[in-house]
Amino acid sequence: MENCIFCQIITGRIPSVKVYEDDRVFAFEDINPISEGHTLIIPKTHAENLFEMTGADLSAVIHASKKVASGIQKALSPDGIAMLQLNGRGANQVVMHYHMHLVPRMPGAGRLPITIWEIKAGDMDAIQKTGAKIAAAIE
Ligand code: AMP
Ligand code: ZN
Repeated sequence: MENCIFCQIITGRIPSVKVYEDDRVFAFEDINPISEGHTLIIPKTHAENLFEMTGADLSAVIHASKKVASGIQKALSPDGIAMLQLNGRGANQVVMHYHMHLVPRMPGAGRLPITIWEIKAGDMDAIQKTGAKIAAAIE
């Protein structure tokens, strides 16, 4: 896609720190890293979000994520690695080309707010109603 920055990273028009590539995916370092080793994995075929991704590309991204995460683990020995993927502006997606974030969590690092939420018992009636609505809508 002409004016998509991640499509331009794939073709090399915009430089990037590439860590991995195969026929379907491209992985590179985030230039505004949340932590050392913050890496993005993207499909080579432009898709804006989860809803536009083909099964083959989704599968390729997940497989590559494991490969790249294993490299991060070996290279940096983090305490853990958060795998995050945002869909839509309401979820704070900024670059509209599907991307999986791998965020290594280093010993003693600060909080990663998205992974921390208050554990508060929900209303079981409401949960059941919502669950039934979602289940009925799954095709
Ligand atoms: P989001 O769309 O919120 O899931 O995140 C987009 C991510 O892309 C951010 O973490 C940015 O730092 C990152 N980003 C934007 N432009 C570039 C670039 N040219 N090279 C590497 N990472 C980028
Ligand atoms: Zn794109």
